[in-house]
Amino acid sequence: MNMEFTRKLPIPQEIKKMYPAAPEDLARKAENDRAIQQIFTGESKKLLLVIGPCSADNETAVLDYMHRLRELQDQVQDKIVMVPRLYTNKPRTTGEGYKGMLHQPDPNERPDLLKGVVAIRSLHLHALAQTGFSCADEMLYPDNHRYLSDLLSYVAIGARSVENQQHRLTASGLDIPVGMKNPTSGNIAVMMNSIKAAQHGHTFIYRGWEVTSKGNPLTHAILRGYVNKHGQSLPNYHYEDLFHLREEFDKNGLQNPAVLVDVNHANSGRRYTEQARIAKEVLQSRRYDASVGNMVKGLMIESYLVDGNQPVGGGVYGQSITDPCLGWEKTSRLVLELADLL
Ligand code: PEP
Ligand code: MN
Repeated sequence: MNMEFTRKLPIPQEIKKMYPAAPEDLARKAENDRAIQQIFTGESKKLLLVIGPCSADNETAVLDYMHRLRELQDQVQDKIVMVPRLYTNKPRTTGEGYKGMLHQPDPNERPDLLKGVVAIRSLHLHALAQTGFSCADEMLYPDNHRYLSDLLSYVAIGARSVENQQHRLTASGLDIPVGMKNPTSGNIAVMMNSIKAAQHGHTFIYRGWEVTSKGNPLTHAILRGYVNKHGQSLPNYHYEDLFHLREEFDKNGLQNPAVLVDVNHANSGRRYTEQARIAKEVLQSRRYDASVGNMVKGLMIESYLVDGNQPVGGGVYGQSITDPCLGWEKTSRLVLELADLL
């Protein structure tokens, strides 16, 4: 084999023992989970916002962002439930570049996975203890999920992973909502098959164990736009896309038909300021047709302290080093506008 086994890492159980969550924080997470799950089951009509930086690159800036988000959440609590994006694993189109805090706890230094495991757990713990938010992360590496499994309230399966069997089977064993993104090609059947697979139970190998999952009825869709064969970004957030998805759900007989619209990525074509316009259009579509309105549970928004993005090492505090994000001022204005429209 052409790889060096550098060192054995602590297993999730050991890391959880070294960095435990306080009982009052776990109680807070259970409360958050209930509020989020009620949106997917239809018991709550609040809008779900999975909102935050493309990547959680720096603990100080991310916690600064989350303290501000907490104030905003409290202002709109009658209408909106927020789950902050605390994304510590980043997929890369060519494998090159910053792979997230798990790999590089300091984006300017070489990968250090031991420090990384501790860094991502500490960040999620601090976020929960200081702001009361239990967060969302991308489940990029299913085997690593258990390092954070007691802290996360939401996971997304990314556009590059959604066709993968291990992601689908692992999702079927989680008891929090899992969002399946449409693949980068835009093929909706791939996303629907992924939801179907995760809503059913399976027997498979997970972390060296034979395991049996029960199926996850809170698995749902995320529309993120797509890229055609000429490399152009195309949207899939318009009313027609949502109506078509509603029909797909009806055909497939899935539980809790639900979608979030990711208003950045290929939907905005990375023109991040368009997120505000797209978000408002989606709310308009929700109002136009009740069956679409019941299915569209919320939005995914990429937002941080400073508008746009910068290269790794750019040195701007609170500006994304991966996808461009809405800055704080535009974010708070948008959230208040969305609350007014609900
Ligand atoms: C993301 O949410 O930052 C992301 C990488 O999304 P996608 O899988 O849709 O590209
Ligand atoms: Mn992104």
